[in-house]
Amino acid sequence: MAAILLDIDGVLHVSGEPIAGAADAVRRLRANGHRLRFVTNTTTRSRTQLAGELRANGIDVGDDEVQTAAGAAVTALQGRRVLALTMHALVHDLEGIELVGEGADAVLLGGADETPETNLVFSYMNLARAFGELELGAELFCLHRNKWWQTKRGAMLDSGAFVAGLEYAAGVEAIVLGKPSHTYFAAACEALDADPSLTWMVGDDLESDIVGAQGMGMRAVLVRTGKFRPDAVERSRTRPDGIVSSLAHLPEWLEEHL
Ligand SMILES: [Mg+2]
Repeated sequence: MAAILLDIDGVLHVSGEPIAGAADAVRRLRANGHRLRFVTNTTTRSRTQLAGELRANGIDVGDDEVQTAAGAAVTALQGRRVLALTMHALVHDLEGIELVGEGADAVLLGGADETPETNLVFSYMNLARAFGELELGAELFCLHRNKWWQTKRGAMLDSGAFVAGLEYAAGVEAIVLGKPSHTYFAAACEALDADPSLTWMVGDDLESDIVGAQGMGMRAVLVRTGKFRPDAVERSRTRPDGIVSSLAHLPEWLEEHL
């Protein structure tokens, strides 16, 4: 039996629309005795909302099986004064950190979403304020530094561009709290009481999911859904341990390759 980390966006759903066969695959993985954890960089919905959406799509998942980047932020930023540029939906998950408008000792950038709220969160004023805090010595953190994500309408610019912009302007380097950070994957393995070498990561993102997991000694399977692009795989030096057309094919594939 293996420990399996499943990415959510692009693996279980795209823009909230379920990937065909995903719910059944989760059921079969559990029936085969595998331990599952749902690991996501999604920064637009709270953990409770996310788990609720998955259950509404027929996926059997408990709130406490979902690991978000916001949860990692609470652990990392405990006791610090934080200027957070994040979607409002995340505020609940950030409970436990002190959010401030100025005099911050940490700046935290979340991700973009498909609504006009992104315009407000990453407005010039807010980015300039974050830059000002960095200039005064605050440390830069981000939930992730994804360049783009897949939506029903195609690829959308993600907040990694704003992280890179602030790094460039302030001459600092951001600390990533979500995937592909070592700490994030280590926390997921620990939650399953699993050794990384016996753990599989399943995702649609070569950089965040595959490179990150393999860097920790885990094995990683890429799905051909979500943000999967055949040309990106061909160009990359990264070799996933397996490629399946979608999560629906994972249970069968795993039984052959375990
Ligand atoms: Mg994904």
